[in-house]
Amino acid sequence: MQKYQLYINGQWVDSTEDRWIEVEDPATKEVYAKVPRSTEADTRLAIDAAKKAFPNWKDTPIDDRILYMEKLYAYIKEHEEDIAKELSHELGCTYDVALEGQVRMTYSEIEATIKAAREHEMVEEMENTKIISEPYGVVAAITPWNYPLSQITRKIFPALLAGNTVVLKPSQNTPITAYFVADGCDFIKLPEGVLNLVTGRGSEVGSVLAKSKDVDMISFTGSTEGGSTLGAQAQETIKKVQLELGGKSPALVLEDADVELVAKKVLDTVYSNVGQTCSCLSRVVAPRSIKQELEEALIEETKKYTFGNPYDEGTKVGPLSSKKQFEKVTSYVAIGKSEATLLYEGEVKDNKGYNFPPVIFTDVDQNATIAQEEIFGPVLSIIYYDDLEEGIDISNNTIYGLSSAVFGKDIDKCLEIAPKILAGDVHINGASGNSNAPFGGYKMSGYGREKGKYGLWEFLQSKAIYVESK
Ligand code: NAD
Repeated sequence: MQKYQLYINGQWVDSTEDRWIEVEDPATKEVYAKVPRSTEADTRLAIDAAKKAFPNWKDTPIDDRILYMEKLYAYIKEHEEDIAKELSHELGCTYDVALEGQVRMTYSEIEATIKAAREHEMVEEMENTKIISEPYGVVAAITPWNYPLSQITRKIFPALLAGNTVVLKPSQNTPITAYFVADGCDFIKLPEGVLNLVTGRGSEVGSVLAKSKDVDMISFTGSTEGGSTLGAQAQETIKKVQLELGGKSPALVLEDADVELVAKKVLDTVYSNVGQTCSCLSRVVAPRSIKQELEEALIEETKKYTFGNPYDEGTKVGPLSSKKQFEKVTSYVAIGKSEATLLYEGEVKDNKGYNFPPVIFTDVDQNATIAQEEIFGPVLSIIYYDDLEEGIDISNNTIYGLSSAVFGKDIDKCLEIAPKILAGDVHINGASGNSNAPFGGYKMSGYGREKGKYGLWEFLQSKAIYVESK
């Protein structure tokens, strides 16, 4: 079994203690790797290294920082097959999904971030004033397990391009992908201390980072619960906090919508990562008048997905990512059966791992537990409305506001509704996203934005310098 180290101050080092976190393959339930369960001392060493490296990195010309990041991007591309292989083991998805839906999906985002850095005016002139953009200092990047690479690249590329140094703490469930990123930084000879990797638990490493007076900014992606705890800890030292949190995103369907399109687009978001996508459209809010055709379309579309062992030919959807996830989704489905109508429950071809079948509930009350809480599994809730205003209210009846969709043939009507949806983005008729556009939440889905220039701005603060002219 492979054992990993920590990457601190440009060196691969052992943890200060012999404590480990086991990494399990959710498709086989076998432990195949161990990463250090880093201690407070390890975390402090990483923070110190990042702090020491900051002044030089901040003063490194932006063109040179861009060059480093282009090399890191090239390293990721060159190793895409190895990364996809490891990622599929630690997350439980098929190799094809890992390569296309996880690794390659980061490419356009990385390119958009580099472009934004190239175009950003670090100095802006305004009458007797110069406004300069400056980095914060040491950034702690804390990431979740569901998109092990993109959640890291969305943070470290803009943070480093902006001139910050980074301590990266990936999820304890999927830490292996992060090793490719640290390896890449080592390979391109990124100056020592500019990027440091500490693996471990949120309650241990994450808390030390949140509370440290030497960490200037936290960029956190994870659950709303984790973000709330961490945000409170971080405020003790008044640091900048960016929170990218959970969701319960609605797909608002209008009367004239193409139901086949609704089924295809919605279920793609719900099944493609076994529902373990923050922005997945887990609530369909539809007019009662189209109930029958909509339900038939959703069932037909669901049958096109093969849930099973990700290592078997023909499998489209693998297992949930962990025992914890399996137990959580199982309990939500039991709750759903007691509070709504079960429309469809699919099958799993091979369930050696934490596999879970697709489940659709219908006639769900808008305030039901399964309509309100983030399940993070292949579970869809259909909620019906009688008039459109009610449909909009139901769509907004959630503590979350990450993503959303509106489906209808009349695009002007959809565009009129889009601003009324309280979410960070609205996909009309399932239109795909844009790597240059902002991504982030309203309400308890967090604050701050990722991707493109919006993501870069998060890691910069502005300073006004006033000049007396004589
Ligand atoms: P999580 O909150 O359990 O953990 C996320 C990361 O934070 C992990 O590295 C964890 O170790 C660390 N952590 C957890 N609690 C912490 C604490 N109190 N202090 C410091 N660090 C802490 O989330 P998860 O289960 O890994 O990920 C799933 C969640 O992430 C879902 O809610 C999903 O919606 C959300 N998510 C959001 C986005 C987004 O962009 N908005 C993207 C992906 C995932």
